[in-house]
Amino acid sequence: MNIILFGPPGAGKGTQSNNLVKDFNLFKVSTGELLRKEINDGTNLGNEIKSTIDKGSLVSDNIINDLIENIILDKKINNRLLFDGYPRNLNQAKNLSKVLNKNNQKLSCVLSLTVNKDSLIKRVLGRQTCSKCGKIFNEFYEPATSDNHNCGQKFLHKRSDDNEKAITNRFETYSRDTLPILDFYKEQNLLHQINGNAKIDDIYKEIRAIISSIDTWHYELS
Ligand code: ADP
Repeated sequence: MNIILFGPPGAGKGTQSNNLVKDFNLFKVSTGELLRKEINDGTNLGNEIKSTIDKGSLVSDNIINDLIENIILDKKINNRLLFDGYPRNLNQAKNLSKVLNKNNQKLSCVLSLTVNKDSLIKRVLGRQTCSKCGKIFNEFYEPATSDNHNCGQKFLHKRSDDNEKAITNRFETYSRDTLPILDFYKEQNLLHQINGNAKIDDIYKEIRAIISSIDTWHYELS
């Protein structure tokens, strides 16, 4: 089972993918996280892409396609891939299909989270991530407290692109480059739209229901 979790910045992809990884033994492929790791590790690639990411623009397809190809070649995680925040444009989407195909794999579904714009902005501007446990909090909606988080305040950090200027550009990039991918997947009957304004647990229930219906369907066919 290979899944794409799709949605604008702040749609809740990270939150839902953390649950999915645990429950379905999937391997998360978040290009955003991989790129941020390069920056934090101070690699050549990290230095090259930092200003692009901080501006809220997309890094080049060549960089992304290389990153992804290496992951798909890894047999240990064959057919257990959960793509979060990837692909980001039609070129990346087509390349993903090509590389999966070449490695005898395919996509099972695309789960698209839709959220209204005002909530998205608040979610992004209030977002805080724990660098120790990876949990995502929100200063406005769900602040980290001693009840829901044991690692301590010092591990909480804000992303350098979660500011008003970068977020405006990220939304523009999303509407212009990323949204058109949905038609590509709709034509292949892979697309499932999910109301991302609902409560985290309810969204997750819906996602689980979709995944089990797909799993049954594959089972019946085989
Ligand atoms: P979000 O979806 O909340 O904007 P991500 O963590 O997915 O956050 O991505 C952060 C940034 O990393 C993007 O704004 C972009 O600069 C870069 N990035 C992530 N994934 C890709 C990708 N597939 N192609 C190009 N750039 C990407």
